[in-house]
Amino acid sequence: MNFTTSDKISVQKIEKSRINEVDFDNLTFGKDFSDHMFECDYINGEWVHPTIRPYGPLTISPAAKVFHYGQAVFEGMKAYKDANGKVFLFRPDQNHARINKSAKRMAIPEFPKDIFFEALHKLIDLDRDWVKPGNGNSLYIRPFVMATQEGVSASPSDQYKFMILLSPVNAYYTGDVKVVVAEEYSRSANGGVGAAKAAGNYGAQFYPTNLAREKGFQQVIWTDANEHKYLEEAGTMNVFFRINDTLYTAPTSDRILDGITRKSVIALAKKDNIPVEERPILVSEIVEASKNGTLKEIFGAGTAAVISPVSTFNYKDVTYELPPTAGGYSTKFKKELTDIQYNISEDPFGWRY
Ligand code: PMP
Repeated sequence: MNFTTSDKISVQKIEKSRINEVDFDNLTFGKDFSDHMFECDYINGEWVHPTIRPYGPLTISPAAKVFHYGQAVFEGMKAYKDANGKVFLFRPDQNHARINKSAKRMAIPEFPKDIFFEALHKLIDLDRDWVKPGNGNSLYIRPFVMATQEGVSASPSDQYKFMILLSPVNAYYTGDVKVVVAEEYSRSANGGVGAAKAAGNYGAQFYPTNLAREKGFQQVIWTDANEHKYLEEAGTMNVFFRINDTLYTAPTSDRILDGITRKSVIALAKKDNIPVEERPILVSEIVEASKNGTLKEIFGAGTAAVISPVSTFNYKDVTYELPPTAGGYSTKFKKELTDIQYNISEDPFGWRY
């Protein structure tokens, strides 16, 4: 990776901004994109031609390996604006480390940290008007890499394109989330790619998630692929369970994404002297705790969704109701996290960037 910031990012600015065409109060998550995007190509063993240019279509060979073998990974981050118009990222070093971890698992070359940060800086600065202030408003950042070599032989590509897109968003879910515990389909297996943000992990969830939606659930909580006995994570969120006053979440593994929100919630809980256990959680434990009244909360944690309280979970066609969330851990952690993200509170861990 012979790449340094001396390879200047070339910038082609848009002639006329599209910002006035966007209704920032009624955004559909991930539908609108800002004026500019970043791209950088991997050719002959080097990342070259870092460029910011107007958002728009690409020209790629239909034989590009990404279309045939799904050799692609991505990240999800957000930029937040405070009341004074300053823009912040939240733990972006973690996203950089994770896209490279995902890339390694998918035989994709790592992307250099200096250019990752310089690209984020330049791109977000250029499109900073697309970051709207106010809790819940943010600019979702989508870095991704795809295999661009032309050829349908099933082997790793020798060319890649790294890109960053920016999409203004409001809150991800509105209202509480109803989930179903997976009994048949699985998201990931031991030794698989579950811990990578590999594109295909998400595509593979669409069908079982559609089946869940048809039954009125927004999300599936995935269980272990062997026996469907242990609770793992949701489609784009890690999951926390509160029994009495203790918080439980599944340990990260090669099946579960090492979520940045997850590790931040764990750190906040420890700071606040809330007992947290990272250990395998049996579905039967949660069912039992719901029946005996000790299950107080379930919530998802992720960049897009922030903290999403679960209102009911369904297992083997029985629906279990959670108590009202007011005053609970989910409300508390959501406030603590967003206060850090929007530069409202102190930042005891140095997470703001
Ligand atoms: N699990 C999965 C499968 C995800 O895609 C995400 C979103 N990146 C998460 C958990 C939450 O991770 P983070 O808090 O880093 O967004």
